Amino acid sequence: MERDLTSLADTAYDVVVVGGGIHGACIAWDAALRGLRVALVERDDFGAATSANSLRIVHGGLRYLARGDLTRMRESIRERSTLLRIAPTLVEPLPVLVPTTGAGTRGRAALRAALALNDLLSLDRNRELQPGRRLPPGRLISTAECHRLFPAFPSADTSGGALWYDARLLRPERLTLAFVRAAARRGAAVANYCRVDRVVSEAGRVRGVMVTDLEGGGAFEVRGRSVVVAAGPWTRELVAPGHVGAHAFALNLEIGRRLAETAVGVRAATGPADDPIIGGHRFIFLVPQGGTTLLGTWYAPATGASPRATAQRGEAALLAELGAACPALQLTSADVVRRQWGLLPLKDGREPGRRDALAERPGVTDHGVAGGARGMFSLEGVKYTTARGVAEHVVDRVVAELGLAASACRTARVRVDEGLGDLGAPLETRAREAVRSEMAVRLSDIVLRRTTLGDPPGPGREQVVGAGRIVAGELGWTASREETEIEEVMRQLRGLGSTMEPAA
Ligand SMILES: Cc1cc2nc3c(=O)[nH]c(=O)nc-3n(C[C@H](O)[C@H](O)[C@H](O)COP(=O)(O)OP(=O)(O)OC[C@H]3O[C@@H](n4cnc5c(N)ncnc54)[C@H](O)[C@@H]3O)c2cc1C
Repeated sequence: MERDLTSLADTAYDVVVVGGGIHGACIAWDAALRGLRVALVERDDFGAATSANSLRIVHGGLRYLARGDLTRMRESIRERSTLLRIAPTLVEPLPVLVPTTGAGTRGRAALRAALALNDLLSLDRNRELQPGRRLPPGRLISTAECHRLFPAFPSADTSGGALWYDARLLRPERLTLAFVRAAARRGAAVANYCRVDRVVSEAGRVRGVMVTDLEGGGAFEVRGRSVVVAAGPWTRELVAPGHVGAHAFALNLEIGRRLAETAVGVRAATGPADDPIIGGHRFIFLVPQGGTTLLGTWYAPATGASPRATAQRGEAALLAELGAACPALQLTSADVVRRQWGLLPLKDGREPGRRDALAERPGVTDHGVAGGARGMFSLEGVKYTTARGVAEHVVDRVVAELGLAASACRTARVRVDEGLGDLGAPLETRAREAVRSEMAVRLSDIVLRRTTLGDPPGPGREQVVGAGRIVAGELGWTASREETEIEEVMRQLRGLGSTMEPAA
């Protein structure tokens, strides 16, 4: 995977994809696999923004059952199986436990029926999956077994638990990179640290995008017969300058201990006044990750206030909500080893329902049809889980608009994780490989996304300096660049652990 900006500037592409999060990565891979000439440009590192900060659950959509939305549920089940099939080294089965309470919709009889229906609707869920990636049926379990799986399982009013299987992303940023790399291997030109400043149109048709190389190579145009802006929460401001769109601030915390052997969902007691986005009584999930536990998600309207202040408010609220639901846990801020956050689109009148509720459907716009430039598309995704399927839909529309006789989508069948470097390799080997074949350009790419160095509790300064020396040798950095890179990594490690954090 080579960062070849000369050829990026010299080639005319069928489609230019803006944004290398999971949605842009899947679009680039799909289009390249269908034989289109593809360029993908990302202003940061691939998968470093919203996609790196998800709770890592690949949802099979059990929650949609309660609403009778079987179409959406089947879509989630299909995409969950697809990820387990095409990326088995990066996605694994995840048992999920929720308490059963009372005799109503949260009681054992209702949950037994829901699990049975879930199994029935997902009868084909294990088709063509490797044995270690197959999902067993759900079942009801006793209170004693719940306590064995989660010692702080709430005892008050519970009659045991319901256990089913979803899937877990082992490293979301690595899966995003796997899609980018697969696209590059199929001929896509990909580049990180290239910011798109504007989309260029001519005579009612899109012509490409103006790009600035943030590694100092200047500005240039990338020409494309079509452009897909998949820039996550920044999509709206890129396609309609001056309009940022309405978003929720979403926060997860990482706790420095393994709290449970399964993922656990517990209801928050919070009402709508303190939970305006979800409307109160939402599920909080604990998701074990080796020696730590991800906890989330807390939401608030994104008002433009300082993300650090909002995250601090969210941290206090989330810990209090969890403390009320599982009093035995007694977590405090001292237990938090990482904060991850991102922005998610709200319905905002584009979908039925409350304007300030989370959007449930991806926003796909063909701007040519909507009165803008022909060949221009934009996408605001809502779930990591369904990104591949959404990309398929977007590429279908691009192919139709271009009038191309491209082949059908094959991304549901082709493995994307093969040949990815081994994160457990010695640092020197891994860092060299990441620079040479995974487009690591900055030290933060190496520490936070191409090695296990950044995993909580995170490296000390000495280790960062050691990694800096290796990368400086590989990339020919001056001493001052090396020092700047080290300081930037230390800043990010001290902060919220999110690349979306502004400078402290
Ligand atoms: C806290 C939290 C928890 C979540 N939990 C889950 C979960 O458990 N399961 C699930 O399925 N989903 C979850 N989600 C949702 C999921 O993470 C997102 O829907 C998904 O990652 C969005 O991907 P994306 O590619 O659209 O956006 P992003 O990952 O943000 O990618 C957009 C990219 O565009 C780039 N970009 C922006 N502007 C420009 C520009 N001008 N030029 C070039 N590039 C640009 C950005 O740098 C970024 O890398 C969660 C989200 C959050 C925030």
